[in-house]
Amino acid sequence: MSSIRHIAVLGATGSIGGNTLDVIARHPERFRASVLTAHRQVDPLVALCAQHRPALAVIGDSALEGELARKLAAAGVHCDIAAGHDAITAAVSGNRCDTVVAAIVGAAGLDSTLAAARSGKRLLLANKESIVMAGPLLLAALQEGGGELIPVDSEHNAIFQCLPGGRPNLGQSGVRRLILTASGGPFRGRTRAELSAITPDQACKHPNWVMGRKISVDSATLMNKGLEVIEAHHLFNASADMIDVLVHPQSLVHSLVEYIDGSVLAQLGNPDMRTAIAHALAWPERVDAGVAPLDLAAHAALHFEAPDLPTFRCLALAFQALRAGGDAPAILNAANEVAVEAFLTGALPFLSIADVVESVLTELPPQAVVDVQSLTERDRTAREAARRILRNAC
Ligand code: NAD
Ligand code: MG
Repeated sequence: MSSIRHIAVLGATGSIGGNTLDVIARHPERFRASVLTAHRQVDPLVALCAQHRPALAVIGDSALEGELARKLAAAGVHCDIAAGHDAITAAVSGNRCDTVVAAIVGAAGLDSTLAAARSGKRLLLANKESIVMAGPLLLAALQEGGGELIPVDSEHNAIFQCLPGGRPNLGQSGVRRLILTASGGPFRGRTRAELSAITPDQACKHPNWVMGRKISVDSATLMNKGLEVIEAHHLFNASADMIDVLVHPQSLVHSLVEYIDGSVLAQLGNPDMRTAIAHALAWPERVDAGVAPLDLAAHAALHFEAPDLPTFRCLALAFQALRAGGDAPAILNAANEVAVEAFLTGALPFLSIADVVESVLTELPPQAVVDVQSLTERDRTAREAARRILRNAC
């Protein structure tokens, strides 16, 4: 067996962070949580530090550094402490970890994800927004660093498992299509009229997965699947025409790969992110993830259907952005983050999330992705455009 992995869990207080720490704690002989980071949740971070005893704790909001230090000391935890956005990026590049779980939500995770790729460490990618925004830059950073990227998003992890050798040349491997499954979210089968008065709590109640609020709303609008289509395009070098979405409400088939000889390989399992996380942590070995065995007989029937694109317009908009190319996916992502935030605070109706994204895409025709600075600038411009559209709509 390989030596102990020292793991930086970015976004440790989140849903993926918690699932990652659960898997790590099951295998103290293999894994150690050596760096834990959070945005503003001091108390949950202190509790995690008391349990996992990392070498370094980082809080993203610098104003909270003193409070973190006090509370860690009070809890009897002796570890290094750092604060601020750049401290998270520095922790990734430093020598306390050889593996990075990128589980910050949204564009806020871009710099640390890129730093992990550049560092040549194993990158477990959950933060899909960073690859959607900066796919070509992330792949270039990965090549520069020479490390490996293992997808944690369950669909991409499933595809990774169904491909020969992880991320091969699809054409040479006889792959015809990548088929991403989607649960359809809590509103599958509803009409647009039925979606007009949806509340944030209704949108965050996913039928199969317990997740952070932003990705839960994305799952309800199908934007999550749209972001995943773009993520699959970059991760597996697949054109938009090679990627299909199939609604599968039980979330047991996590995705499929169709080959030119007619074979279709799928990865199945209970809907529990610890399977993908454990796979990515231990790869190419396998470890117990604490996930119950899949009992197919108990499920009796698996259901599949085509997505309802006219109702769930965000998925169509994501395909449109992918085909438009350049930084259109980054514009889509920025507009979506602003619109979802507005929906979560009650300032925007559910169906208008797609309207805001579409308006911003129309207003900002795509430009080539050159470097992180110009991309960050475009991200800011797109957010401003989305906020202006929101103000005018209210
Ligand atoms: P979450 O909201 O539960 O947790 C987010 C984490 O990021 C928290 O620890 C928070 O402190 C941290 N964070 C937020 N803003 C930050 C900032 N500005 N700076 C530093 N840290 C910040 O989110 P989640 O559901 O765990 O999702 C995390 C990522 O993983 C997202 O990109 C999501 O799309 C992806 N993902 C999640 C799931 C899931 O099952 N939850 C599945 C697949 C992919
Ligand atoms: Mg997913």
